[in-house]
Amino acid sequence: MTYQEIVPLLTRILTPGQVSISDTDRALHAKDQSFHQPSKPDVIVWPESALQVSQILILANEYEIPLTAWGAGTSLEGNPIPVRGGILLSLERMNKIIAIQADDFQVTVQPGLGYKDLNVQLARYGLFFAPDPGANASIGGMIANNAAGSRTVRYGATRDNVLRMEVVLADGQVIHVGSRSVKQSAGFDLVHLFIGSEGTLGIITEATLRLSPIPEHISAIVAAFNTVQAAVETVVAVRGSGLDPAALEFLDAFSAQMLIEAEGLDLLPKPTLFMEFHAAHSSALDAGIKIVEAICRDFGTISFQATTNATERKKLWDARHRHYEIVVRTHPDQNFLVTDTCVPLSAYIELVNFIEQQIRQPNRIEAPLVGHAGDGNIHVLIPFDQNFSYERAQQLNAQLVKKAISLGGTCTGEHGVGLGKARFMPIEHGGALEVMRMIKKTLDPKGILNPGKIFLEDAPND
Ligand SMILES: Cc1cc2nc3c(=O)[nH]c(=O)nc-3n(C[C@H](O)[C@H](O)[C@H](O)COP(=O)(O)OP(=O)(O)OC[C@H]3O[C@@H](n4cnc5c(N)ncnc54)[C@H](O)[C@@H]3O)c2cc1C
Repeated sequence: MTYQEIVPLLTRILTPGQVSISDTDRALHAKDQSFHQPSKPDVIVWPESALQVSQILILANEYEIPLTAWGAGTSLEGNPIPVRGGILLSLERMNKIIAIQADDFQVTVQPGLGYKDLNVQLARYGLFFAPDPGANASIGGMIANNAAGSRTVRYGATRDNVLRMEVVLADGQVIHVGSRSVKQSAGFDLVHLFIGSEGTLGIITEATLRLSPIPEHISAIVAAFNTVQAAVETVVAVRGSGLDPAALEFLDAFSAQMLIEAEGLDLLPKPTLFMEFHAAHSSALDAGIKIVEAICRDFGTISFQATTNATERKKLWDARHRHYEIVVRTHPDQNFLVTDTCVPLSAYIELVNFIEQQIRQPNRIEAPLVGHAGDGNIHVLIPFDQNFSYERAQQLNAQLVKKAISLGGTCTGEHGVGLGKARFMPIEHGGALEVMRMIKKTLDPKGILNPGKIFLEDAPND
């Protein structure tokens, strides 16, 4: 079906302002923040209710039109790129808070709401939604990718903070999965089936999220080391100390140098750990800082700074969240492929050594390393340009992924499969991938939902 034929059908359901075939709108929804090939949708729709989402899906399913959901388009693996064209369903206008259930530490929201905007509203109640990917992602996109962030080490990933959802299935049926009870053992866990499914199994139109109280006392710690090995060994020791860090991030010397130059941070250009600790009482925080300092000194820290000052903390974490943007801005002649491997903590040192010895040194590339080290996640930003091709960067990514999987890890800790990781799914999952295919076939028999993602045979050649 051509878009000329789709549009009149869509305008029977939606108002003219909710449908666009303009070239500008199509180009704006053709790519995410990755370097995967852009692909324009034929038409963009902005539904405003679950009923409208359902009506659009009934139409798409009947005429077998591909349909891809769009949150904020900040993905890093091509997840929302509409590779088969068709309908792009933007959740942007479904961005309301439906109810704040403060006494239950819960909030019910529509999927198009940005998590940063949500947290601004929640602050009045002394609550926050903990998962924090750097970019201003939407709640729906975070759930669909199972996003995580620097606070995952203590508060879990998005997966650990969703209790209940409303989902529209491929045939337009609206279902509710999960409940507002924090303990649930009634049958199959459909909440977690949809989380991380990247819009391939259904469209999330509402979610009840688990919240945390904003901690009374917070400390930020920066410790620098002479070697990557010492910094990474410290991560394992801090995790083993029982101190329960709220964030435990690793930056290599190159990244530290960039934050010094671009953000004026008071760091050394050395392998560095950023840590955060939360406590209900200041004495607990002070005691914790002393223990962390002792651990860092045991591993030979050359600089240890701790602060409870809110402005200093904000400066540090804003800079950390802007790391990718800073790398891109300060290297205008290069592009960067962002890797996203994650391994059990005990294998983290081996993975980081592998990156140093098998990826960076032999190829003589200045690829910044940054990672949510506390949960075994590392990102290498592999540069590519006319001298070092995208294909070579992809080969290094493949080497790294295979190493991570051999260490008991995964090809993606938080960015999802999208287009970029589909080729590693058989290696990581073996026969379990066939079960995923069966689930996909059951829930979306015509294959209309975000086609070309997760399964290799569906993905276009990149
Ligand atoms: C600078 C930068 C830093 C980042 N840092 C992190 C990080 O630390 N941790 C991390 O996890 N990620 C990070 N990301 C990646 C990105 O922010 C996350 O993947 C995020 O979850 C994407 O959300 P989004 O709203 O932009 O979704 P989109 O990119 O629009 O979509 C993501 C996927 O979800 C699907 N989808 C969207 N909405 C729905 C819905 N309502 N129902 C069903 N499917 C839906 C889409 O089809 C797509 O498959 C970063 C990105 C950037 C640019």
